[in-house]
Amino acid sequence: MASDSKGQSLSTRLIHAKKNDGAGFESLSMPTYRGSTTVFASVEDMDSPHPGQYRYGLSGTPTHRELSARLAEIEGASDVILTPSGLAAISLVMLAFAKTGGHMLLPASAYYPTLAFADGKLRELGVEIEVYDPAIGGGIADLIRDNTLLIWTESPGSITMEVQDIPAISAAAHARSVPVAIDNTYGAGLLFDAFAAGVDISVQALTKYQGGHSDVLMGSVASRDPAITAKIARANYLLGMGVSPDDCQLVLRGLKTLDLRLRHMGESALTVAKWLQDRPEVTAVLHPALPDCAGHDIWKRDWTGSASIFSIIFGNWSREQVVRFVDALTLFPIGFSWGGAHSLVCTYKDLPRPTPELGPLLVRLNIGLEDPADLIADIEQALTQASSL
Ligand SMILES: *Cc1c(COP(=O)(O)O)cnc(C)c1O
Repeated sequence: MASDSKGQSLSTRLIHAKKNDGAGFESLSMPTYRGSTTVFASVEDMDSPHPGQYRYGLSGTPTHRELSARLAEIEGASDVILTPSGLAAISLVMLAFAKTGGHMLLPASAYYPTLAFADGKLRELGVEIEVYDPAIGGGIADLIRDNTLLIWTESPGSITMEVQDIPAISAAAHARSVPVAIDNTYGAGLLFDAFAAGVDISVQALTKYQGGHSDVLMGSVASRDPAITAKIARANYLLGMGVSPDDCQLVLRGLKTLDLRLRHMGESALTVAKWLQDRPEVTAVLHPALPDCAGHDIWKRDWTGSASIFSIIFGNWSREQVVRFVDALTLFPIGFSWGGAHSLVCTYKDLPRPTPELGPLLVRLNIGLEDPADLIADIEQALTQASSL
């Protein structure tokens, strides 16, 4: 193999070449820094950990930290931990607070896998799980025990969209020194100020609005209290969860248009929801900005806007008609998740809420960035097809 003037072979030189540090190059986007190993200047540097030090890939690269900083800015948090999915963020927080012999409170309206993690894994580990009515408000005080570890909230609730009285729940929790976590995905940190409402931890599925294009999975855990942050960060480190810097780059790109997309989708969703309200086939529209929705008055008090997702109930239809309606839509692909450019539709044959009878007659719509007039025309033809069954 060829050797250079120092006598080192090409294989060595290719590995130890000095990197181009990018001096003089200015792009408008954050570079994607990769690194499983991050190197130390000296043994002393390695032996003296300090806050903010880059120690290993799992403690993040500048790309990760840029995303965390932007998300903290949106939510008014001091720290944001990134996780591989929204569900990973939820499980991380619950696990960080879990203790055998303890007790946790979760709303019946929570994202289904949230309930499944608590009621399955945490119960196995000896945590008592109690599910409460999402409309409980300050009445949560009666359910708090001396061993309550955490109160979980989600507002609006998944699928049935119940808006919770987070300030009342937080006040009752803090009177007993119990921390409150919220799944704040629907508001994206823009439509609801979770920390002003008193929560200690705000969890989001960045998969939805921040990613914004249905092509990346990620979650975040935002907090303000250093002790809470340290507890969750420690659990995250020990679980060894890491996030790809390429994915962080995608989410950073999504953030630039987050506010615009959310406002546009919010307006379109309300237009479609109001049109559906006047249709005879539809017996309820579960949209926080409309009066059929549980907690609508709380939404008016606490929220600055509504987002892209809502549900409708065909109370006088058969399940077959609901299925025909969903299959007949052409601009709404059938799929889980939401918050991207595409409109989406979902229905659930065994949904127990709002009642076991009405659950299978519920359809959830995500309104994307298409022209709402085209979406309404598509819904109208699907209603006609299903009505004639
Ligand atoms: C989608 C969703 C999650 C989970 O996010 P993933 O990134 O898909 O794991 C959590 N909470 C709510 C309310 C969601 O809608």
